[in-house]
Amino acid sequence: MATTERDLYELLGVERGATDAEIKRAFRKLAQQWHPDVNTEPVAQERFKEINEAYQILSDPERRQRYDTFGRAGVDGAAGGAGAGFEGFGGFSDIFDAFFGGAAAAGGSARRGRPQPGADLRYDLRLTFQEAVKGTEKEVEFRVLGRCDTCSGSGAKPGTEAVACPHCQGRGEVRSVRQTMLGQMVNVSPCPRCHGEGRIVEGPCDTCKGDGRTERKRSLRVTIPAGIDEGHQIRLTNEGEVGPRRGPAGSLYVAVHVSPHATLKRDGTELYYEAPISIAQAALGTKITVPTVDGDEEVEIKAGTQPDTELRLRGKGVPHLRRAGARGDLHVLVDVRVPTRLSKKQRELLEAYAKEAGEEVGGGGLREKLGL
Ligand SMILES: [Zn+2]
Ligand SMILES: [Zn+2]
Repeated sequence: MATTERDLYELLGVERGATDAEIKRAFRKLAQQWHPDVNTEPVAQERFKEINEAYQILSDPERRQRYDTFGRAGVDGAAGGAGAGFEGFGGFSDIFDAFFGGAAAAGGSARRGRPQPGADLRYDLRLTFQEAVKGTEKEVEFRVLGRCDTCSGSGAKPGTEAVACPHCQGRGEVRSVRQTMLGQMVNVSPCPRCHGEGRIVEGPCDTCKGDGRTERKRSLRVTIPAGIDEGHQIRLTNEGEVGPRRGPAGSLYVAVHVSPHATLKRDGTELYYEAPISIAQAALGTKITVPTVDGDEEVEIKAGTQPDTELRLRGKGVPHLRRAGARGDLHVLVDVRVPTRLSKKQRELLEAYAKEAGEEVGGGGLREKLGL
């Protein structure tokens, strides 16, 4: 069979660890480029054959594993036996049906009409800082298009049913074939009569006028996981609008907004608290009260603490959304403040301190500017 031993992954331009989706994507791109129906260069046929063979092997988990283990020798016999060569495919459109047409594989059974899915909905939910960190449950209430009770969503008068669309014979799509410079191009578009659904309603339901849906109020309890943050969305599948005439439902996206905390700042799982202390407290040590999400906590500031010292309260941050039990830290940033206004007594004491330390103070400072 193949005389050239080109690596199949290399042929498709993917990594050895590529996922099935990546392999499929790579093949689709190359097929668009090299399929002889669109590419008239003499090398195209041979090139497409190689690409196609590589795809046949790598898209089959069992054969891919044999190839990974034994190389070409592990799969060549089987490739011939399965007859999965270039000839296996029909025209250009058949290949694309295999990817886009759902049920229609390379074998080519007709595509069935599909009901349209319903729209996704968005609900904006505001949480307090505490609720976002700790997690909570919230009741959300919204209006949504749900299945019509009169016709159970079919859109047809009770006692009647939707029938196959006569325009597309229930396929939901119409095809037109064009001859172009690049060969035969098949254009597939949704049927204009049934809008791709494949079925039409002859006697529409009076309640929903044939749409199969009516608007209603719905309320849902939504579990908010601990650690959720501003801008996150919670997706609730099937809780959006239902599609017309029993079309599948869309999703409800709950978009989360978090109110800021008065004194704590948040960055992901980490919390930050700025603790202002005086020069005397920094020099002599003190105890401060730090607000945490679990209540106030006393924190010791050691004697001789320098400005911009960071103390860490481990595990007092925000829970990780995906790692159960894991929590970030609360960082206490010590902000040593130099007093800008001193009482007479305070100034005397500081001057006495400076004298004791042998430091030059006053002159050119605050006192002079104020004309004291
Ligand atoms: Zn139709
Ligand atoms: Zn109805």
